[in-house]
Amino acid sequence: MSEGAVLLERERLTSGTTWHTAGLLWQLRPSDVEVELLAHTRRVVSRELEEETGLHTGWIQNGGLFIASNRQRLDEYKRLMSLGKAYGVESHVLSPAETKALYPLMNVDDLYGTLYVPQDGTMDPAGTCTTLVRAAAARGAQVIENCPVTGIRVRTDDFGVRRVAAVETQHGPIQTPCVVNCAGVWASAVGRMAGVKVPLVAMHHAYVVTERIEGIQVGGLPLALRQAGVDRWAGGQVWDLALKPSGAPSALSLGGLVCEMGMVALGGTGWCQS
Ligand SMILES: Cc1cc2nc3c(=O)[nH]c(=O)nc-3n(C[C@H](O)[C@H](O)[C@H](O)COP(=O)(O)OP(=O)(O)OC[C@H]3O[C@@H](n4cnc5c(N)ncnc54)[C@H](O)[C@@H]3O)c2cc1C
Repeated sequence: MSEGAVLLERERLTSGTTWHTAGLLWQLRPSDVEVELLAHTRRVVSRELEEETGLHTGWIQNGGLFIASNRQRLDEYKRLMSLGKAYGVESHVLSPAETKALYPLMNVDDLYGTLYVPQDGTMDPAGTCTTLVRAAAARGAQVIENCPVTGIRVRTDDFGVRRVAAVETQHGPIQTPCVVNCAGVWASAVGRMAGVKVPLVAMHHAYVVTERIEGIQVGGLPLALRQAGVDRWAGGQVWDLALKPSGAPSALSLGGLVCEMGMVALGGTGWCQS
């Protein structure tokens, strides 16, 4: 955000999904666009924001460990490692024994291997948001909370192209030719205000914080773990599982997308379960 930009938030900043994100940043994804975006985000969160504002985003470079519980997943991780080489992201495919040496608490008996990315890390979502707002305000941007967008005025220009003319709020309209829809899972609703279909589906996401577990802190630096395609953790089919150190020392927070949980229907102003 820079001079002249206005961020309208219907409630308080981070009140959307950001407040309960695990805050993991893993750099290796199958798409090159994502890898570049994540590299940029890592630079901003781990270094540039702090240099610019003097505030800390809560960045901890504790490394990411992707766990392969079948051969196909391990092959995928080998491909990710090759992609990482092209983009300068250091990563290592580890055998179960090497994984055990890195993370002694883990039972590696039924693992095919892991992908270790030493420069992955975690951030504090609220801290990152506060720091971003400080940087944006210093460049002349404005943040207005408790100000829902209620409509987007669109006009058709001389060439028949539909263009944004203004954003409507309860406190009056803001004339603008440009709107960035950053309403997260509510983006479809905001898109509809301008007659735009945003192809987005919200899914339930389970989240558990454990009691203290002895030994979780490894070498003073906890690791972020992520396991995909397993079915032994939550009793149901888990698509995707992320573990990270929680706010409490020696405890973990654990989140997974579980297909039985299904989709979420979103009401106009909040969450409502389908
Ligand atoms: C349990 C969990 C764990 C996660 N873990 C990770 C992780 O480890 N790493 C990772 O990268 N991602 C993770 N995610 C995903 C991540 O949280 C989201 O991608 C991210 O928070 C999205 O941020 P956002 O700013 O796009 O959306 P949001 O934070 O949802 O912000 C959208 C904002 O738009 C506002 N809004 C909606 N409608 C209007 C309106 N009409 N007018 C004005 N304002 C409006 C809302 O109030 C909200 O504050 C996780 C998500 C969950 C649920």
